[in-house]
Amino acid sequence: MTRNQDLRKLREILQRRRRDILEASLGVHRELRALKDQERDPEYEENAQSELADYTLSSLMETQRREIMLIDAAMRRMDEGSFGSCVDCGYEIPHERLVALPFAIRCEEDATRHEHEMRGGPMAMPSL
Ligand SMILES: [Zn+2]
Repeated sequence: MTRNQDLRKLREILQRRRRDILEASLGVHRELRALKDQERDPEYEENAQSELADYTLSSLMETQRREIMLIDAAMRRMDEGSFGSCVDCGYEIPHERLVALPFAIRCEEDATRHEHEMRGGPMAMPSL
């Protein structure tokens, strides 16, 4: 069936994305370690700079962790057979949307509304 083929393709996209994130995150860890090695230099300014670098790096990792969670959830939904339908209205999410955003769990309309609710009001984000 076409739908199974679509699913397989989307799963491949997700798995590739997951690997990319993990590899990028590994690179970040290596940078962090390199940064720590430089901290033997007793310059205060250098320390402040590496603290700043630590901060941005750790917030980046948080985003990556979040995305991996979304990817895992999407793949779990594929296993359960609930992948591709909107969690709010139950209708199928358009295929183009899933290709662009494989871990989408809502149709565009519900996603926009959800976003508004999360951000506290329709004025928080311009609607498209
Ligand atoms: Zn919906």
